[in-house]
Amino acid sequence: MFPLNDNFDATSLDSLEPVFNELLSRDVKSVSDLEVFFSDISDMAEHVSEAGARLYIGMTCDTENELKQTNFLNFVENIRPRMSEVSNKLDLKILNLDFLEQLSDRYSLILRSMRNSIEIFREENIPLSVECTKLSTEYQKIIGAMTVNFEGMEYTLPQMRRFLESNDRETRRLAWASVRERRMKDSSRISEILDELIDKRNKIAQNAGFNNYVEYAFRSMERFDYSPSDCREFHKSVEIHCMPLIHQINQDRLSGFGFDKLMPWDVNEKSGDSPDVQGRPALAPFQDVSELVSLTSEVFHGMSDELGEMFDRLVDGEVLDLDSRKGKAPGGYQYNLEKTGLPFIFMNASGQQGDVETMIHEAGHAFHSMYCSHLGLIQERNYPIEFAEVASMSMELLTQPHWDVFYSDEEDVLRARKMHLESVIGLLAWICRVDAFQHWMYENPNHSHKERSEYWLELRSRFGPRTDWTGFEEDEALFWQTQGHLFGAPFYYIEYGIAQLGALQIWAKHIDDPQTALSDYKKAMMLGNTRNLPDLFEAADIKLSFDEEHIGRLVNHVSSALEASG
Ligand SMILES: [Zn+2]
Repeated sequence: MFPLNDNFDATSLDSLEPVFNELLSRDVKSVSDLEVFFSDISDMAEHVSEAGARLYIGMTCDTENELKQTNFLNFVENIRPRMSEVSNKLDLKILNLDFLEQLSDRYSLILRSMRNSIEIFREENIPLSVECTKLSTEYQKIIGAMTVNFEGMEYTLPQMRRFLESNDRETRRLAWASVRERRMKDSSRISEILDELIDKRNKIAQNAGFNNYVEYAFRSMERFDYSPSDCREFHKSVEIHCMPLIHQINQDRLSGFGFDKLMPWDVNEKSGDSPDVQGRPALAPFQDVSELVSLTSEVFHGMSDELGEMFDRLVDGEVLDLDSRKGKAPGGYQYNLEKTGLPFIFMNASGQQGDVETMIHEAGHAFHSMYCSHLGLIQERNYPIEFAEVASMSMELLTQPHWDVFYSDEEDVLRARKMHLESVIGLLAWICRVDAFQHWMYENPNHSHKERSEYWLELRSRFGPRTDWTGFEEDEALFWQTQGHLFGAPFYYIEYGIAQLGALQIWAKHIDDPQTALSDYKKAMMLGNTRNLPDLFEAADIKLSFDEEHIGRLVNHVSSALEASG
C-alpha cells in the first residue's frame, strides 16, 4: 500500500478508509516498525494535506464556480473531521507502545505534541467547540453583511477602505462616520456573542482541568516556550519603547497636516497608518503582474543568487496566482503543497506598494517551505507560526535596500520604506493591545460590559494613538469588535509580534553583514519544526526575548532608519 501512489485520491473516503484501516490495525512491534509507521502516516497526511490545499486553491481562485466550492466544503465537512479522528487514534496507538524511549531524539518534539493533545483532549469539549465555531460564524456573517450607503452607492466595509484612506479629510470623516454608524447597529449582539464565547471557552478550560482559558489556550497552542507573564513583559516593553515613537510620528503628521488635532479618521487605529501628509497620490510600483514578478525577481537576485533562483523556481513552477480579478477571493496566502513539495502563492495585486510587500512576504514563506523540504516527515516541516512569520516578515525588511527597482524617483523609495517602517511599529502596539485585552478577559471571565469597556479604554490609553474620539465615546469603548481574531481565533495574534521581534533582529544584522544574516536565516529555516522555538531563534543567531532593553534596541534601529528615510 505504501508509499501511496502519486495519483492517490485523498478527496474520497472510499480510497482513504482502507489506508486508515491498515494503519490503525497494523502490528507495530519494534522501533524500526515504528519508524516505518511514522513515515507511512506522514505519507498519508501529505496526500490529505495536498488534496485540501488544491481544493482550497481551486475555490479561492474561482469563487463563482459552485462545483469547486462544493468540493472544498465536502472536504472540510467529511475528510478533515474523519482525518482528525483517525490521527487521534494513531497518536494514542503510538503513545501506548512500550518501547518509545528507544526512539531517537528525532521524534521527541513529535511525541511532545502528541502527548499534549491527548492530555488536554476531553470528549465533552467537542460539542462546546462546535458551539464556539457557530458563534464565530455568526460574528463573521454579521460583519460580512454590513454595507453602507455612501455618496449614493452601496459599499461593503472592505470597499469603504478607499474612502477611509482618501487624501481629502472631509471624505474620510464622512466615510468613517457612516461605517461607525453601521457598526453600532449590531454592536449589542456582537457583545453578547463575545460573552457566550468567553463562557464556553472557560468551560472548555475547566473541563480539561485548567484554572482558566488563558492556561488552556497556551497549552492547546503548544506555547511551551513562553508564558502569559512573558506576554505581559512584551506589552510593557512595547508601551515603554514603541509608544513614544508612535506619538512622535503622529506629532510630525499633525504639524505636517496643519490640523489642531488628529481625529480617528486621520490615523488608522489598528495599523497606525495615515494618509500622505503632502497629499501625494498613492505610490505606483508596477503596472501589471508580469512586471511585479520580474521586478521581485530582480530584488531577490540583488540580495543573493540563491534567493533569486528560488524565486524564479516559483515562477517557472506556475505556482503563483497574483492578479486581482473578478471571482477571486480577497487577500493573500502561501500554501505549501506537501506532496509535490512546492509552495503556492495567492494574492490580489492591483499595482500598490502593499502588493509589493505582500509578494515579498509570501515569497519569504515560500523560501521557508523550500528550505525545509528536505525533511522527511510532515510534522518535521510543520514549523511553528511564531517562526514562520520570521521568515516572511524579515524578507519585507531585508529587501528594503532593493526597492529602488520599483521606482525611478528616489523620493518614492524613501516614502515606501518610511510607510513600511511606521506600520511595523504601529502594528506592534496594536498586537499588544489585542493580546493584553484577551489575557484580561479570560482571566476575569465574569466581567461586566462596563468593566470590559473600561479595560479596553485603559489599554487604549497605553497603546493607542492620541487621536480625539470626542463624540464617539461608545465606538471608542467597543472598537475591539472590529478584531475578528477575538471571535474566531482566540489568543492567536501575539505570534506576529514575536515574529516581528525576530525579523527586526535579522534585519539589524543584515545591515551590517548581509551574507552572514542570510546564511543564518537559511540555517534556521532548514530546521523546519525539528527544534523548539528558542532553538530556532538561536539557529538564526537571534534572541527570543521580550525584555525592555532588547526591544528598546530594536525600536532604536527602526527609529534611525525612519530618520534616514526623511
Ligand atoms: Zn505570513
